[in-house]
Amino acid sequence: MRFHVAQLLKDGIGATRSYEVHEPDAVVADDGSRGLVEGTLSLLRTKSGILAKAALRLHYPDVCSRCLTPIKVPLELQIEEEYQPTVDVLTGTPGPPPEDPSVLLIDEHHVLDLTEAVRQYRVLAAPMQPLCRPDCAGLCPVCGQNLNESPCACPRDEYDPQWSALAKLARGEPRDN
Ligand SMILES: [Zn+2]
Ligand SMILES: [Zn+2]
Repeated sequence: MRFHVAQLLKDGIGATRSYEVHEPDAVVADDGSRGLVEGTLSLLRTKSGILAKAALRLHYPDVCSRCLTPIKVPLELQIEEEYQPTVDVLTGTPGPPPEDPSVLLIDEHHVLDLTEAVRQYRVLAAPMQPLCRPDCAGLCPVCGQNLNESPCACPRDEYDPQWSALAKLARGEPRDN
């Protein structure tokens, strides 16, 4: 996800570029997993650099938080970040180091790389408890059976803490707390 922006930097404030993003082999997870990232990118030359706005879709590999089945979580990222040049595009001289060390940089070859922004936005967008489907039945806490595939023989109401409390109430037994 690298874009050469030397000409855009030279074009002056207010100049724009638009791109279709289609990266079949982009890094989509912190473990280095790769997959398709696609969407649109628009770049705007600003006073201090380039404002990048991207709307990207990707599938993030994870496991279902209930049944532990590997899944691909669809993510939509709306990225808006300003990149600052490290060298002057006209003279080639290095600029001063950025005041904010977390600012995203255009490298000395005038390449704007979206990879780090995608990583940061992906971390924020990834669900804490992804599900393979909204009604995933999960694993039996007793025997470990994947209850999406078939029910098990365990007496469920005795082992699920949520339901066992209700079951006790229903039977008129005292609650245990
Ligand atoms: Zn599941
Ligand atoms: Zn079971």
